[in-house]
Amino acid sequence: MSPLSRRRFLRGGLEALAAAAVSAKLRPARAAAASVSATDLIPGDRGAMTLLQGAGCNVIAVRGPEGSLLIDGGLAASSESLLAAAASATGNARVDTLINTHWHPSQTGSNERVGREGGLIISHEVTRLYLGRSALSACYPGSYGPLPKVAWPRKTTRDKGSLEFAGQHVDYVYLPAAHTDGDLYVHFPERNLLVAGGPVLGDRWPVIDIRNGAWVGGLVNAYDVLASVTKPDTRIVPANGGLLTGAEIARRRDIYHKLFTQLFVYLNKGFGPDDVVAARPLKAHESELGDPTRFLAGAYESLMYAYVPN
Ligand SMILES: [Zn+2]
Repeated sequence: MSPLSRRRFLRGGLEALAAAAVSAKLRPARAAAASVSATDLIPGDRGAMTLLQGAGCNVIAVRGPEGSLLIDGGLAASSESLLAAAASATGNARVDTLINTHWHPSQTGSNERVGREGGLIISHEVTRLYLGRSALSACYPGSYGPLPKVAWPRKTTRDKGSLEFAGQHVDYVYLPAAHTDGDLYVHFPERNLLVAGGPVLGDRWPVIDIRNGAWVGGLVNAYDVLASVTKPDTRIVPANGGLLTGAEIARRRDIYHKLFTQLFVYLNKGFGPDDVVAARPLKAHESELGDPTRFLAGAYESLMYAYVPN
């Protein structure tokens, strides 16, 4: 690709970004009650661990002795419904600990409520930094944040951490530059269950937040890591959609590895994002995971940022 076409391409991206910036700011305030569904994940131990869906992202609620553990908190507009559903599922009136897998609005919308009620919020350090300012993203229109200080995580990691909760070991581990620049996965090894966070969607292609430090190489690396810490029968909770297995993560890892190699072939041919989309390198998987246009364009754009000088 010529430098000219890259400049034109980048200019297009910046214009789109500017348009998004002046669009309506995300305002959580009074919103409609979300319809949140609850699915028990531990047969024979009702409420021990529940998947809550419908609040903006998949949320896991774990019953604890002094309150529940939540993994992610849905959108602020759905927070009230989500927390009511979590209380009903676990029997815990309050949230003891909330882990944010990343800083996007769909994951951090309950931070303010949980923080005000004295719950401990845990995240990657980058998530805390983002929640303290206004951020644009490839993943939502307008801007998000800053959140009030009470909503900021009080405990952060730059790498990994662990806790014991209700007799279960819980690991949370950084996945660099995969979906944002502050992704964590959360692993319950004794439950053989892993909450994958942003890099994994149930039945769609993932989104790479290329405005905020994520790139396709980080995504591929995340699948390598997730495949290495899970077994074929490990239950995987994606950011949205139905549960997956470790075997499915390994299969998708292979798809993304193959794509990564192919994107470099396109780079050497001087392709632009439109050429890559037109070449349909993911054709064989479109019936299963849908139209890959946005994913492909984002993945290739991220590669251009890294490898094509202006
Ligand atoms: Zn996200």
